[in-house]
Amino acid sequence: LIAFLLYLFYLVPPIGQLVQGGVQLQQGLAAMKRINEIESLPAEPATPVGAVAGVEPVGVTFEDVVFRYGDDRPIVHAGVSFEVPPGGLTALVGPSGAGKSTVFGLLERFYDHQGGTITIGGRDIRDWPLGELRAALGYVEQDAPVLAGTLRENLLFAAQDATEDELRRAIVRTRLDDLVERLPEGLETAVGHRGVLLSGGERQRVAIARALLRRPRLLLLDEATSQLDAVNELRLREVIAEVAEETTVLVIAHRLSTVTNADRIVVMEAGGVRAVGTHGSLVGDDDLYRELAATQFLVS
Ligand code: ATP
Repeated sequence: LIAFLLYLFYLVPPIGQLVQGGVQLQQGLAAMKRINEIESLPAEPATPVGAVAGVEPVGVTFEDVVFRYGDDRPIVHAGVSFEVPPGGLTALVGPSGAGKSTVFGLLERFYDHQGGTITIGGRDIRDWPLGELRAALGYVEQDAPVLAGTLRENLLFAAQDATEDELRRAIVRTRLDDLVERLPEGLETAVGHRGVLLSGGERQRVAIARALLRRPRLLLLDEATSQLDAVNELRLREVIAEVAEETTVLVIAHRLSTVTNADRIVVMEAGGVRAVGTHGSLVGDDDLYRELAATQFLVS
């Protein structure tokens, strides 16, 4: 029942805000300052723990995908095409309503596309048995709620049979070891409304650890929009980059620090793909991307 409620929670799209106005120099400078601030923080030593080692990452292709939520609704995707290679970090960016969450909904087969082809791991998405497909995918929702219970229960929610060693590795991989040490009863500490409140960045890392324990071949991550302090933002960025070394990560990015790290960025607008590139190439080539960068992506 809880899993069903979580899925329902996911289905309600967040109310976003549109990017207002044009690029403002001040915002651009503020974004640059923030990136510099994060860059200057000491990086944590890499931890070769391999939380999802052994899984075979899968790629994704969208070819001329057409989708609408209902016959009487406007078309959301009109001929969307892009490719996510297996392994590595691909970011989806674009203003609110561009269709980023719809891409996730189609990949999870909450909805079926009406035209074109979607493949995962080279196989038509319609040919995947649903259980197998959902087992291959991990999903980390935006601003994930912490469940009532202990931190251990939160982490093992979707992977009851994970070993203590796997749990430990997922904790280290998501930089939650500091948190575990700080909590009065470690993993057995109650968190959430009736326990220790976790910050937005910690909540998202708990959600990533929970997803990793299911050993996903493709991780769909709707990045937290809550304001993170510089340390938490750095942690999140490191965690996402490291997870992308082991499996395929497709992230709906709301942070400049994530997209500057991405192997490729798909810029969406009004249900279509407007440009694909890296941060460096898109800043030079794409006006909308430049505008989003200047507002730090925190637009939805
Ligand atoms: P945001 O960043 O605000 O989440 P997004 O880029 O993820 O935006 P989507 O949520 O995919 O965009 O929405 C794309 C379009 O589809 C929007 O016009 C939205 O109103 C519409 N839409 C999204 N979900 C539904 C739904 N369940 N039923 C009908 N229309 C929907």
